[in-house]
Amino acid sequence: MTKIIDGKRISAEIKDELREQAMKFKERGIEATLAVVQVGLDPASSIYVRNKKKACEYVGIRSLSYELAEETTEEELLSLIEKLNKDNAVSGILVQLPLPAHICEKHILDAISPAKDVDCFHPENVGKMCLGEPGFLPCTPAGVVELLKREGIEIAGKECVVIGRSNIVGKPASMMMLRENATVTIAHSRTKDLREVTKRADILIVAVGKPLMIDDSYVKEGAVVIDVGIHRNAENKVCGDVDYDKVAPKCSAITPVPGGVGPMTIAMLMRNCLSTIIDK
Ligand code: NAD
Repeated sequence: MTKIIDGKRISAEIKDELREQAMKFKERGIEATLAVVQVGLDPASSIYVRNKKKACEYVGIRSLSYELAEETTEEELLSLIEKLNKDNAVSGILVQLPLPAHICEKHILDAISPAKDVDCFHPENVGKMCLGEPGFLPCTPAGVVELLKREGIEIAGKECVVIGRSNIVGKPASMMMLRENATVTIAHSRTKDLREVTKRADILIVAVGKPLMIDDSYVKEGAVVIDVGIHRNAENKVCGDVDYDKVAPKCSAITPVPGGVGPMTIAMLMRNCLSTIIDK
């Protein structure tokens, strides 16, 4: 029987745990505050921002909105970030990506104070994560690891293949699985014979960004498959990078899309936000 990993339920449990922690801090007069910055009106970004603010409200994290016009300059955005860095009432800063093309994302992400970098995109925090030092963890990869742990899936000593090497998902997911003592292989667009590599995986993490690309021919019998992809198909239905109907019967456990990794990303963001006050 294939276990369907219910990210919706697990993320709700995590948010309830965080809400309880936040309440205890509030009783002592301590509250986390997340500044959410959005530049322009990209509809997908607006949905993500709305969901993040809703989660903050549920958990008990104050959120401040900065909705800037599309034509905001890089200098103007940098000066807002500088102001938020210095503001002691703000414990976390999140700049919703993508930014308009005239703004360099790296300049902006590098300007966020590492102590307030709840997305864990700053090179200092990425370095700490790679070194296994305490600090923020990148939200989507942390969500993947948390799903595996909460489902009681052993990671140590397992063959883990990650498809994708982006800075947001593939690379940090690989490092985090290494931290959990998996034997990790990273496959990417230049990998020769992808199937030969992925069929070795006890745990296959798919972040390839191609709708339904991974079918059963890429998967070993009994593998655990984690699908990070999010797309909308021709009928406007949400689907992942994995062809769920073909792959599910072959695995021991699988995440659905929607309702798998997606909700975990926000839960991990909330965990990072709360850690800005807990760690102090
Ligand atoms: P990306 O496009 O930046 O990276 C895709 C990676 O896949 C690249 O490293 C590339 O080398 C590799 N790749 C592309 N084609 C390949 C092929 N044919 N064979 C092997 N490797 C190939 O994407 P990303 O930002 O890492 O996101 C991946 C997916 O995850 C997307 O569908 C995205 O929407 C989704 N995503 C989901 C969440 C979430 O919260 N669940 C968060 C971020 C991204």
